[in-house]
Amino acid sequence: MVSIASDRDSVAIPVDSYDAHVGNGLLERAGEIIRTVAPAHRYAIISDDNVAPLYAARLRTSLGAAQTELYTIPPGESHKTREQWARLTDELLAAGFGRDTTILALGGGVVGDLAGFVAATYMRGVPFVQLPTTLLAMIDASIGGKTGVDTTAGKNLVGAFHQPRAVIADSSVLGTLPASHLRSGLAEAVKHGAIADAQYYGSIDGMLPSILTPSLTPSGGELQQLIARSIEIKASIVRQDEREGGIRRNLNFGHTLGHAIESESGYSLLHGEAIAIGMVLEAKLGEALGVTAAGTVKQLRDTLEKAGLPTVSPKSLDANRILAATRSDKKARAGVVEYALIAEIGRAIAGVRAPDEAVLEVLTQNTTTQ
Ligand code: NAD
Repeated sequence: MVSIASDRDSVAIPVDSYDAHVGNGLLERAGEIIRTVAPAHRYAIISDDNVAPLYAARLRTSLGAAQTELYTIPPGESHKTREQWARLTDELLAAGFGRDTTILALGGGVVGDLAGFVAATYMRGVPFVQLPTTLLAMIDASIGGKTGVDTTAGKNLVGAFHQPRAVIADSSVLGTLPASHLRSGLAEAVKHGAIADAQYYGSIDGMLPSILTPSLTPSGGELQQLIARSIEIKASIVRQDEREGGIRRNLNFGHTLGHAIESESGYSLLHGEAIAIGMVLEAKLGEALGVTAAGTVKQLRDTLEKAGLPTVSPKSLDANRILAATRSDKKARAGVVEYALIAEIGRAIAGVRAPDEAVLEVLTQNTTTQ
């Protein structure tokens, strides 16, 4: 496991052709890293209207005399669109940004995906750096090079693989993140432990009380440890399988049913909340099919509840509709849904085909009265 001796230390984790830097207060030193890995004539910072007033000035100061322009989108998933992509690229063109531009994505996963897609397509691709400001973006969305936008047909259906030149994760910015979004990110950390590292899973479980104590959040060394280890796990999986043909599918644990529940809820559930429910349901499915060790559901449920995450599906959601939604997920191949399950905590098992009846059984058993 990555070792971070104190809150002031930072680490550089190799992801692919680039490093993910994790540390407390890193935004102040971001300019140094950016000028080294992505020197540019001009920098275009893309952020959202919540994050920019909090952190854009810090980033600009760290870039010193370099020319920077700030572009923002309204916050939220509903703005990860082709319209915003078109507006941003038109504004960059109008401002005369050339091929010697680096785009800096400062924000959560929405900004990272959208700004990354702008970078992937602007003048056939310019460099970009991810400066994630949510836990989910630090440990998941910014790692792996997937960029894109949503369409009316579904989430993330138009996009490109475009690797950033660096990821710079400053854990101190999580101090202003709403608690619900911190919890949502924790769901992905729990998933990383569940699919790849039982010891890490145990340590997350132990860290949860202090991570969720607001006074410890801004600089907590434990949070840095968690970010660093989760990035290591995602990075090692992505390195082995950049385009999702093999081991990368393990990252989908909890996501087949989770995505379906998220969309059926009309996105009233945060992504991590839906994934928490999805992990419990898919562990149940695995136990029912005999591929997951008995007792795994209870372990997951206990940890996720400790993180303040939901573990049952809202009763208002219809099991048949959730099942149908799993088939339209872009991860379904020729309409056949393959689940990425876990054999036990710490060990994934991908490519499991589950009969509809087994899925429906799990979905109908596991609801709440919300
Ligand atoms: P988000 O980007 O919408 O951010 C959540 C909210 O927190 C927003 O309102 C934002 O303005 C605010 N915010 C962000 N940082 C803040 C901070 N430090 N202080 C205060 N407020 C802050 O949501 P998210 O959960 O970060 O990302 C979700 C997106 O990530 C989805 O679009 C999803 O598809 C995408 N995603 C992509 C990948 C990938 O591999 N590319 C993986 C997982 C998720």
